Amino acid sequence: MIEWRSSYNYDFAISSIPIQIILLVFYCSRRNLPVRQSGSFLYVMFFNMTMTASDIIACELNEVWTEYPLWVMYLINIGYFIGFLMRGWALFDYTAEGCRSYLVVPRRLTQILAAPVIAMCLITISTPWTGILFRFEPGSGYQNNPAGYPGIYFSTWFYIIASLIYVLVSRKKCRLRFRIAMYGYNAILIAGILSRSHFPMTLVTSYFSILAVLIIYLSAQNPDLYRDQKVRLFNRDAFEAIVEEFIGKKEEFSCFGVSFRAFDTDRAVYGEENLKEAIRQISQFLQSIPGYDPFYFGRGTFILLEHTHREECRILDHAIRERFKEKWTVGGNDLDLNICTYFLPRKVKKKSAGFTIDCLIRAEEDAREHGGRSVYTVGEGLLGRMRREEEVGRAVGRAINGRRFEVYLQPLYSVREKRIVAAEALARLTDPEVGPIPPPEFIQVSEKNGQIMEVGRQIFEKTCALIRDYDLEKLGIHCLNVNLSPIQCMNDNLAQELIQAARRYGISMEQICLEITESTMEDIDVMRKQMERLGAEGVSFSLDDFGTGTSNITRLLGLPLRSVKLDMTVVWSYFRKESRILRYLLQMFVDSEFDIIVEGVENREMAEELARLGADVEQGYYFSKPLSPEDFIQYVEDFERIPEKEKVGAPVRKNSTDPI
Ligand code: C2E
Ligand code: MG
Ligand code: MG
Repeated sequence: MIEWRSSYNYDFAISSIPIQIILLVFYCSRRNLPVRQSGSFLYVMFFNMTMTASDIIACELNEVWTEYPLWVMYLINIGYFIGFLMRGWALFDYTAEGCRSYLVVPRRLTQILAAPVIAMCLITISTPWTGILFRFEPGSGYQNNPAGYPGIYFSTWFYIIASLIYVLVSRKKCRLRFRIAMYGYNAILIAGILSRSHFPMTLVTSYFSILAVLIIYLSAQNPDLYRDQKVRLFNRDAFEAIVEEFIGKKEEFSCFGVSFRAFDTDRAVYGEENLKEAIRQISQFLQSIPGYDPFYFGRGTFILLEHTHREECRILDHAIRERFKEKWTVGGNDLDLNICTYFLPRKVKKKSAGFTIDCLIRAEEDAREHGGRSVYTVGEGLLGRMRREEEVGRAVGRAINGRRFEVYLQPLYSVREKRIVAAEALARLTDPEVGPIPPPEFIQVSEKNGQIMEVGRQIFEKTCALIRDYDLEKLGIHCLNVNLSPIQCMNDNLAQELIQAARRYGISMEQICLEITESTMEDIDVMRKQMERLGAEGVSFSLDDFGTGTSNITRLLGLPLRSVKLDMTVVWSYFRKESRILRYLLQMFVDSEFDIIVEGVENREMAEELARLGADVEQGYYFSKPLSPEDFIQYVEDFERIPEKEKVGAPVRKNSTDPI
């Protein structure tokens, strides 16, 4: 048992020391992200350690101060105060870096905010001469100067409040996990200060401090968070952090991507373990290339980051391809791996890490499409597409806010009944700035950026409103077909949302037919559940774009579907005499219970031939382009007046005002 000389309780302070040492050893034994934030965290740990150690030593020595030279006593007490002050500032500095405040607050301001700590440190250092913080009295030894202390606490509170404000103003620039961690450790620091004032004889500050450091370590600074465990390269999060810092500092950089051309096939052919080992070998090879930092994004994608070297895209490409011409040997097996490469040059202006990663993902897709035989360089073509997507994304956002989507209707003609029996509801968007945007374009953009749920919701509601406002039943139109995006179908609450919307508009779900596609079936069990739920309410389902995918037909047709829509590419290839698949598909379905709908019927000859081949329902420009609801009503009324014998389809064309 140690005989402490002072009456302070050191239990908390002492127990925090081994934790600090363990963290420091772990942290320093790994390669940390080469970003300022990592250095900042090291300062936090260093000053925390200084504060803890000097606090205990100072408290003890102050009891026997006459045994030591006065300068030693001043030195150790000053050490404590400096450690305490600098720890407060270092935590603020870390917060400012961690929440990427430099994207919102000028760096200069953050530097100016170091003024209080600098002033307080100068005051501390001058204490032996001024006695502002403490002094040693000949009789009683160490004496606090109550007038000097508020400065110390001012500095501490100042940095806690500044940290909280920084997190608040930078909330859009950093992840929720960071934000929670940062709010969390600042709350702990406050708890530390309050505890210290309640228990003045217990050294609790270091304990609360180490809790704060632990939170930072676990949530943001653990080097393992930034490393791919299999390959031991930095991962995508690390790339994002480093690139964000380059952009913040206006440092130029280029990226070179290497991706497997067919990762899934390679995995199936060579096996998971062999491929993993090959990826390890590839990362070692990439690490050996001077001037580039390699990152592993997963699924056979490596990114080499360059910011100090001259760009040598061709030479680098050549070197990598030469190596891939040889096999990768794993446990006696030779793996022949094909790659595609792509390059994001320095001259492409990178707005953010997200944009950079987006560029790389697109470049990879394009490189793959181009066959991967030579390096694909990001240029105006791809950047133009990305700009357009952004523009369309903004237009969709505006349309969502203004509820400006329109629904057009395209008639579905029943060959058996010789009349229009239904219609497909097709979304239309005309933006005041961009003009009309084709549905495949805005649907795809909103699927990518997450707006599709709201878009789908609004289109469904518009369709419900349309059913409520126009007396379609009277015209013999029993239902409207609404397209569902595969992403909407992943929503577990889909059925409930649609049912509630239909109720709000007071329409029966029997008036709705939902069009789904093969890609919806990725999670077929989820889809089946939704379909059963909706089916119980009277909704029917149609499988859209049939013939374009490669799914297991038996599996698809095991679903509760009412109709199958053959895609227009299948229909057209038959009439262009390119393929006879349409004939076989129709034959296959002739005896089934599904209605067969054919799309893309553009002339009378097609309409008659398709009817002869067994199509039940026809849709296409021959009958009509998609029409506004008013025009659609007019169209159906006109159609009813056509003599029976003229119909095969006997069409009445209506000039559509369709903006597309
Ligand atoms: P889809 O569901 O296969 O819709 C049929 C598309 O074919 C419509 O294009 C329609 O105008 C077009 N079409 C119909 N007959 C003919 C014809 O004879 N010739 C030609 N050339 N085209 C014909 P649209 O309206 O541009 O929609 C394209 C795609 O956008 C739709 O394909 C669907 O996948 C998607 N889409 C449209 N509206 C929505 C919606 O509300 N939600 C979702 N998720 N997707 C929608
Ligand atoms: Mg459709
Ligand atoms: Mg279709």
